[in-house]
Amino acid sequence: LRTAVDTVGFHAGRRPDHPAIVCQGRTVTWEALHRESNRTARSLAAAGLGAGDRVAYLGKESEHYYELFFACAKAGVVLVPVNWRLAGPEVEYLLRDSGSVLVFAEAEYGPLVEKVTGTLPLRPDVVLVDGGADRGAGLRQWKGDATYANLVFTPGPDDPVVQIYTSGTTGMPKGVVLAHRSFFKVRDALAGAGERWVDWYPEDVSLIAIPGFHVGGLWWAMQGFNAGVTNVAMPMFVSEDAVALIRDLGVTTTCMVPAMLQMALSDSKDHNDFATLRKVTYGGAPIAEPLLKACLDAMGCEFAQFYGLTETGNTTVCLPPEAHVPGSPLMAAAGRPYPGFAAEIVDEDGKALPTGEVGEIRVRTPARMIEYWNLPEATESTLVDGWIHTGDAGYMDADGYVFVCDRIKDTIIVAGENVYPAEIEKAMCEHPAVREAAVVAVPDNRWGETVHAVVVLEPGGEATPREITVFLRERIADFKLPTGYEYMDRLPRNPSGKILRRELREKHWTGLS
Ligand code: AMP
Repeated sequence: LRTAVDTVGFHAGRRPDHPAIVCQGRTVTWEALHRESNRTARSLAAAGLGAGDRVAYLGKESEHYYELFFACAKAGVVLVPVNWRLAGPEVEYLLRDSGSVLVFAEAEYGPLVEKVTGTLPLRPDVVLVDGGADRGAGLRQWKGDATYANLVFTPGPDDPVVQIYTSGTTGMPKGVVLAHRSFFKVRDALAGAGERWVDWYPEDVSLIAIPGFHVGGLWWAMQGFNAGVTNVAMPMFVSEDAVALIRDLGVTTTCMVPAMLQMALSDSKDHNDFATLRKVTYGGAPIAEPLLKACLDAMGCEFAQFYGLTETGNTTVCLPPEAHVPGSPLMAAAGRPYPGFAAEIVDEDGKALPTGEVGEIRVRTPARMIEYWNLPEATESTLVDGWIHTGDAGYMDADGYVFVCDRIKDTIIVAGENVYPAEIEKAMCEHPAVREAAVVAVPDNRWGETVHAVVVLEPGGEATPREITVFLRERIADFKLPTGYEYMDRLPRNPSGKILRRELREKHWTGLS
């Protein structure tokens, strides 16, 4: 299987009546997923959409999201999944930037989509997926009597399939264009190297915990779909629900960000909750060793870590189960490149550094992005001679294990959601009483990190934390809102005027390991 299209057709032929997706008690078999995504693909084609067109989805996780994903793949259309937590202006930016010509939205987001598309130069058509409580009714109606014969279009591994937005250093999100190959190369490399732990079993039940608008969630979902197993989708991650699904549906494998693992552990009432798990993968943010140890104890199954970025098509290095031995120094590693992938530590000039020295991590991966959408310069500075510059600082040991120690790019990771300071600072500075603002990551037991704001007010200006928060709420997603504020007369800067974030951040991190 080399493309998402091969995947669904293959398993529909092999085990038509086996569940492909289970969501809130609704089950879609492989045959139904194939048939319905064919009908949706035909409807996309009938609406004049084809290779290179962008279609957006705004909604929570459901079987309809994955039906749309496969339908777009079959029609050659690139799906733009939109994080439903984003605020109106952020959604508008994504729709405008991607040039989406059609938006599928859950009914709940209908009014928002109507509002933000009203101002777009090319107003996209909007299809509401649901009809009130009747899930999928809007989509069914839109498909009408489209037949389910396969479309003639067959994408290749290098064709684009999805455009996922990540925030940028400039404050403007960038559309990362990923090809089908991004979702296949890692598994092929690991399986080719005889790594048995990557194998799936026909009776596996996979929980999709990370939302599919993130590369990590979609990548994980695709691993389960490739393997033809039952995939459990949850509208949004709620840890009590995740624990209940694992227990009640006999989930055997899942992929979570560390904050999700932490919440699942504390919400589990009984050690039998995790009895059916046989493999847990995690990544997306650094994991604290005590948490990893607690997970090993409580879940008692194989663990593997993945490290990667949206730009790398998710993972590039992995920490296999045998490295998960409490007391081993490898418990602090992110992993080792797969066969056919490479990682290197480089200095500011791109020169490779010796073992043990800290520099920027760069990686070479056949799963990497095609480009940033319409941003050739940004693409050129991130993708240099086939290497993706990660913006993460780290070192490598003599066996080639990569250790991530810091972020050069200032991102804050709130429960696995990446937040760029520039976006928040820009929004804060739009407040009339705010002269300057800087935000930094502070440690948080539940979320890993949260946003802390440092504000410099205009002379005579007044703005309480509450006022600033209310102001920001209109402009940025809730998870980006500062959880703490601090006022200063001026921000510490270096001679060239750059904010010394480290100085602002340090006091919050001292004393922590
Ligand atoms: P995203 O593009 O949203 O997938 O975020 C990618 C960033 O998440 C990376 O550049 C890292 O800073 C962080 N990250 C991802 N996986 C790991 C990991 N296993 N350990 C530490 N940080 C990670």
